Amino acid sequence: MSTQAAQQDDLAAVIGLEVHVQLETDTKIFCGCPTEPTEEPNTNVCPVCLGLPGSLPVLNEAAVEAAVKVGKAIDADIPRETRFHRKNYYYPDLPKNFQITQYDEPICQDGELDVSVEGERRTVRIRRAHLEEDPGSLQHVGGGIDTATHTRIDYNRAGTPLMEIVTEPDFRRPTEARAFLAKLEEVLEYLGVFDSQRDGSLRVDANLSIVPAADVRDGEEMDPETLESANRTEVKNISSHKGAETALAYEEARQKNLIRRGKAVEQETRHFNETHGSTVSMRSKEAEKDYRYFEEADLPPLQVSDWKERIDIPELPDARRERFVSEYGLDEESASKLTSTKQVADFYEDVASSFDPDLAATWVADNLLGELNYRDMAITDVAGRLDEFTRLVELVAGDEITTKNAEEVVLRKMLDEGKTPDEVVETEGLGKTDAAAVETAVREAIDENPDAVEDYHAGEGGALNFLVGQVMQKTQGSADPGQVNQLLRDELAD
Ligand code: ADP
Ligand code: MG
Ligand code: ZN
Repeated sequence: MSTQAAQQDDLAAVIGLEVHVQLETDTKIFCGCPTEPTEEPNTNVCPVCLGLPGSLPVLNEAAVEAAVKVGKAIDADIPRETRFHRKNYYYPDLPKNFQITQYDEPICQDGELDVSVEGERRTVRIRRAHLEEDPGSLQHVGGGIDTATHTRIDYNRAGTPLMEIVTEPDFRRPTEARAFLAKLEEVLEYLGVFDSQRDGSLRVDANLSIVPAADVRDGEEMDPETLESANRTEVKNISSHKGAETALAYEEARQKNLIRRGKAVEQETRHFNETHGSTVSMRSKEAEKDYRYFEEADLPPLQVSDWKERIDIPELPDARRERFVSEYGLDEESASKLTSTKQVADFYEDVASSFDPDLAATWVADNLLGELNYRDMAITDVAGRLDEFTRLVELVAGDEITTKNAEEVVLRKMLDEGKTPDEVVETEGLGKTDAAAVETAVREAIDENPDAVEDYHAGEGGALNFLVGQVMQKTQGSADPGQVNQLLRDELAD
């Protein structure tokens, strides 16, 4: 082993994530303002979300239901009673100068999520997941956060329900953190409580420290003292999975370099520069006491003990993938593709209920998702047209059009021109020619090409292919080549 490789091995990274996700509800968490984004700033606001004196918060039941669904999905404990606290800090996006959040009795505690990274399955422990309100959004004009000439504030986002999901420091590599975020999003979308397409719907704070490699053993819990004593940095407000991976990889290299040069890592909050893929120091890390948490007296404690039984959640991606393998006999790869979103999985099951499951898998996983992907589209973009795709599968299954035409002509024109499959079949003349017409074409091809017939009888292999080609031309590609081949042989044998 080279000296450098030995050095690479003696230090290890420890990573923990705090993930903020917006919950999809019609109205904000403590007032009746709509959460639907609008172009016009400061229009979806009221005295409550602007924090005007005398206004009182009223908890949105839908946000609590969404949180309970998340709790069930991550197998968390949901306490008998949950409470809200004020987290005090002064910042322009927070008009009340405190954020209503949860502190010592969060709605979800001690959960977990299975993630597979490079084929290896890991269980990531989730310490807590709590409800809180989103602050407003700041728009820095004329530069970044540190160089702007001035900043605009939009309170439309203020009061959007958020869930903050805090993992234990169970990740060892930036790629694992990224895989976790992808899995978390997948599960949240299955639950119907989250929209990944929405701008800023997921924001990550990524914590990383470096410890002696000898203190880390895969799959084993870290010693709390080691964790406590390691100086860590928290990179705030990263808006994508890839960004989280990049920021963590940067931090891992930066901290390891400091340690190798005998320097100390500062415990601090850092900012991710997305353009450069680097992190910069923002401020020393605030401690819990800086926030002066105290109980939110305007919201009574909420009894949630029976909500867990009352609220149902759909079958989740892992379970569904396993069922697709056992019930439909699919391979792991197709089953994974087909369960990647709830919409795709629902659509697949719909098609598989009327047609052969393998045919349905080919059509949904390979053809439809492939063509959508090629066009940078998602299943949600064609959500209202799923009947048309079922009709296309029906045309193929009923042998009314050839597979080749269905894939290369009908499906593509459906997506590019917005036509229905029957319209494409009609305008392109793709309906399979009936048996009599194929026979006529076979007779004609023989009559018109005596040389080829002679070559065929002389044993020249290419002659038959030439004749098949002639028939296919006459039938505009709508005949079945295998059948044409057989018909020609029969005809020429007489
Ligand atoms: P704080 O109260 O300072 O925010 P917490 O103990 O609540 O700190 O942990 C916040 C996040 O930091 C969690 O996601 C946790 O997994 C992570 N974390 C804790 N210790 C470490 C460490 N030594 N290295 C990396 N991440 C850590
Ligand atoms: Mg924190
Ligand atoms: Zn409001």
